[in-house]
Formats: sequence, C-alpha cells, structure tokens
Amino acid sequence: MNIGAHQNVILATGGFEWNEKYRQRFLRGPLTAPASLPLSTGDGLKMVMKVGADLANLNEAFWVPTVKIEGEEFEGTQLYRMTRGERSLPGSIMVNKHGKRFVNEAANYNDTSKAFHYFDAVEYGYINLPAWIIIDDEFTSKYTVVTSLPGEENPDWLVKADTITELANKIEVNPENLKNTVESYNNHALNGKDPEFHRGESEYNWYYGDPEHPINPSVGPIGKGPYYALRVYPGAIGTKGDAVINEHGQVLDVNEEPIPSLYAVGNVAASIMGPGYPGAGSTLGPAVAFGYLAGNHAVKKASYIPG
Ligand SMILES: Cc1cc2nc3c(=O)[nH]c(=O)nc-3n(C[C@H](O)[C@H](O)[C@H](O)COP(=O)(O)OP(=O)(O)OC[C@H]3O[C@@H](n4cnc5c(N)ncnc54)[C@H](O)[C@@H]3O)c2cc1C
Repeated sequence: MNIGAHQNVILATGGFEWNEKYRQRFLRGPLTAPASLPLSTGDGLKMVMKVGADLANLNEAFWVPTVKIEGEEFEGTQLYRMTRGERSLPGSIMVNKHGKRFVNEAANYNDTSKAFHYFDAVEYGYINLPAWIIIDDEFTSKYTVVTSLPGEENPDWLVKADTITELANKIEVNPENLKNTVESYNNHALNGKDPEFHRGESEYNWYYGDPEHPINPSVGPIGKGPYYALRVYPGAIGTKGDAVINEHGQVLDVNEEPIPSLYAVGNVAASIMGPGYPGAGSTLGPAVAFGYLAGNHAVKKASYIPG
C-alpha cells in the first residue's frame, strides 16, 4: 500500500525487536523473546536508512526477562510475558545453564537482562542462557506465578520435581551445582542477605517483593519441595535505537541537519535514555512528549492546501 503525504511525515512505527535480521545485526546480545506484539518489525528503521538518517543507540533495547506460556499466540506467533515477582520475591532464585546464579535477580528488568549477554570466552557462548527461575512449594501457595494464582493447581508449563536433584535432571543442568547453589544461597538468605549478588540491599529491589516477609522483602531461602523451574528468555519491551532526532522530533541526516519534512517518535527514534532505564514510563514518556513536539512543529511548518 502506498500512502502519499503533501507536507510532513511523522513516523511512529515502533522498533525492530521482531525483525530477526536487524536483531542479529545490531543488538549487543541475544533477544529471542520480545514481550511486545509481533508488529515492530523494523519497517521504520528501513525507511529512515533509505533516506540517509543518522542512527544511534542501535545496540540497545528496553531489556526484560520473559517467560513463555505455550499456546499464547497472536496471529500464529508465540507471545512472551515479562517476569517480575517470580524473580524478586522470597523463595526464588534464577540460575544459568550450569545451575549457578549469575545476577541480582531482583534488580530492574533492563539491567538484570544484560547479564544474559555475558559471553564466556572459554566455552565460547552465552553461558547464562538458557536461564531458569527455581521456586519452592511455599512460593506457589503464597504468590502468583505468571498467570497461576496462589494455591491453584500447578500449570503444566512449570517443570515440577520432588527434589532439587530431580529438578536439575529434568531441566538438564548439573545437579551438584544446583544443589550447591541452593545451599549457599539459603545459608545467607535465612538472614535476609545475599553477599554474592547483593539482592535485596536496595529498596528498588523490593518493588516486586513481599513487604510482609520478615527481614528482607525480596530475599528468603528456598524451602521444602516440591520444587519448580520456569524457563526464562532474553526479551525486551521494545528496541531503543533508530533515527536520531532533534528537539522538534525531526529526523537528522548524517551531517546532523534535519531531513526535510520527516519526523520520528517512539521507538523508531533513538531513545534519549541511552542504555539505561530510569523508571516506569521511560519509553512511553518520551514517545508522548516527542509526539506532541513533532505534531506542533509539523503543523507550524505546514502551509494551508485548499482541499
Ligand atoms: C508488556 C509491555 C509492558 C510495557 N510497559 C511499559 C510501561 O510500564 N511504561 C512504558 O513507558 N512503556 C512500557 N512498555 C513499552 C511501550 O509500550 C512501547 O515502548 C511503546 O508502545 C512503543 O510505542 P511506539 O509508538 O514507538 O510503537 P508501537 O506502540 O509498537 O506502535 C507502532 C505501530 O506501528 C505499526 N506499524 C509498524 N510498521 C508499520 C508499517 N510499515 N505501516 C503501518 N503501520 C506500521 C504497528 O502495527 C504498531 O501499531 C511496555 C511494553 C510491553 C510490551
């Protein structure tokens, strides 16, 4: 379909997290399971590249660890959900393919996810993938696990086992490592501490924690079985790099001059947040603000064309 424009064009076509080719070319690490709908296919990026736009922040996304519920689809494409409480509440940990913890699980989702991109030079691969959230039985009776409410019958997308060893075998991680990880985490978690990754030391870590849990809202030992494992994927709620814009939302060329009549807002514009994620609204806030600025600027520049 071709759409003509007499005067100005404001692009708002989203990012490129559902474009496999661009993901592999540009991003700093794996992004295989976006939490967005499969509509952000990088069409806008292709368009601005075609007209010589300057590009920035292409290696970054609004990263988020995601989980999959088999069969949740949009027009035949598997969807993914963000995981928050499952990795921040007491009685849970997240481990890598070797059964070892690798990050402060309760940190903000953007920074937690960057640990998925750790590349091991000896094994020559991303050793923190696949990742697994491990929870105990009490967790499932107290807290919501993705869509499963406390006390509900355990869904079949959770891997279940009576012992940690059996669970490790089921998810194909080293059983000895997983047992050691749980034991050493529990030693300190009993006192609400995590000397290894400092989980629960910052109040930000408590955001998805349990305020009624004694000592620390986001740190507590893995208790009695049965135990459960939930696979975690490297996801994002959108990509963060694209066309460079100015204070009016105008797309700039490689000489930092506005490309006449072309604007970009939202994730089709390079985010002003760089690699960070200061807080809720870091994507929608600038999208709305620059949408307003771009709209006003475009209207002022436009001349009246009688219909
Ligand atoms: C689960 C989830 C939770 C989130 N929570 C928050 C939050 O709490 N706070 C926050 O700030 N942000 C949040 N976000 C992020 C935020 O929703 C997105 O960053 C934002 O919607 C991006 O806006 P956009 O307009 O750039 O793109 P989109 O909202 O993706 O819209 C782009 C539109 O362009 C259309 N399009 C694409 N290509 C073409 C084409 N060639 N022709 C015509 N149309 C096209 C698409 O179909 C789509 O409708 C969340 C995202 C997700 C997925």
